[in-house]
Amino acid sequence: MSQSYDVIVVGVGAVGSAACYDLAKRGLKVLGLEQFAVPHNMGGTHGNSRQTKIAPYIGSDYEPIILRAYELFHEIVEESGQKDLMVTTGFLDLAPHRNFSGYKNNLGHFEDLSASQVRERFPQFHIDEPYWGAFDPVGALLRPEVAITTYVRMAMRLGTHVMANTKVLDWSADAAGVMVKTDRETYSADRIVFCAGPWTGKLLKNLGITCTVTRMSFAWVWPLQNVKAYEPEAMPCWCIEDEDGIYYGFPMMTDVPGYKIGLHWYGEPVDPDNFNRTPNAHDESLVRKGLQKYFPEANGPLLGIRTCLYDHTVDDVPIMDKHPEHDRVVLCGPLCGAGFKFAPAYAEIAADFVEKGRTDLRSDFLRIGRLLPSS
Ligand SMILES: Cc1cc2nc3c(=O)[nH]c(=O)nc-3n(C[C@H](O)[C@H](O)[C@H](O)COP(=O)(O)OP(=O)(O)OC[C@H]3O[C@@H](n4cnc5c(N)ncnc54)[C@H](O)[C@@H]3O)c2cc1C
Repeated sequence: MSQSYDVIVVGVGAVGSAACYDLAKRGLKVLGLEQFAVPHNMGGTHGNSRQTKIAPYIGSDYEPIILRAYELFHEIVEESGQKDLMVTTGFLDLAPHRNFSGYKNNLGHFEDLSASQVRERFPQFHIDEPYWGAFDPVGALLRPEVAITTYVRMAMRLGTHVMANTKVLDWSADAAGVMVKTDRETYSADRIVFCAGPWTGKLLKNLGITCTVTRMSFAWVWPLQNVKAYEPEAMPCWCIEDEDGIYYGFPMMTDVPGYKIGLHWYGEPVDPDNFNRTPNAHDESLVRKGLQKYFPEANGPLLGIRTCLYDHTVDDVPIMDKHPEHDRVVLCGPLCGAGFKFAPAYAEIAADFVEKGRTDLRSDFLRIGRLLPSS
């Protein structure tokens, strides 16, 4: 038996690292437990880049959360001086019709572009009618590994303990507090926050809700011509709605060579502890299909290909709530495959639950009641 803490954060990934920092800033004695290294490439938060944007969420349930997440990302950049954590590139959303995915009532937050206007401004995109574009000028590229590193560094400076390579095996909670058994030691605390991403279902199996994990892949290629057209000065982050799913990509950055592209779809269900992480020919073919269709001039040599995990609830809306049976336990995930952009705001909601038992950030749609068998 070892030390006692105010709060234990299980999982030091995207949201867990931000939660460690948020809780530490509130003056709490925090322990973060991570089964792998910090950061690592075994879960849902690796690959050097994630997209964020505001326009599609204006008028939706996510509006206050994305706006708060933007504030918090700007805040951590300011506080840490880690300027490459968030790079404003703009975000271009393309679909084979106008006024798609939420771009209806939020004029003023994006530019409405016809296919020919898109081609004129971004000739790298091979897009024709009936495609339309929505360009969000505040769209940005976030660096996930840099964010996790920064949050952990800042939290540890405030006294947080983070234990890597420490797997949580079991936990219990009662009126006196929580106990967490790991493969090293057992820890106690007043409260616990689960930020376990794709492993949430394994750690919370008694909840009686379904959490599914799926395998995804993405790749980097070297453009065949006009390399400068794929650099951030000329290229935004982007998504293209396609019959196979949504292709997405990023301008080329300096920390990894090549032009990154992936296909967003539901994915192939897997066990996060036992699946084939090695990318295969099918993974590459998904990316090649998108390149051939939309970026034939970039369809060059492969520089890297990786697998990654999405996590899903049945409605693909995340869970941010207190545990329905344990007041001292806060649930912060799964984030449902699109959560990096919201991570610091989700961490703030979790920290609010720990500190005050409630949050003022409007987020009722994230409560677990909607998923429980009796509701
Ligand atoms: C290919 C891909 C592309 C994506 N693109 C985007 C994007 O452009 N924009 C966006 O907003 N989102 C995107 N997402 C989603 C986003 O990256 C994830 O939703 C988010 O990063 C998940 O964060 P998390 O903290 O929930 O999980 P993770 O970062 O995976 O953290 C969970 C942590 O818990 C640890 N853990 C689990 N069980 C235990 C245990 N028993 N003991 C100790 N530690 C444990 C894990 O090791 C892990 O480090 C993408 C995801 C993928 C896979």
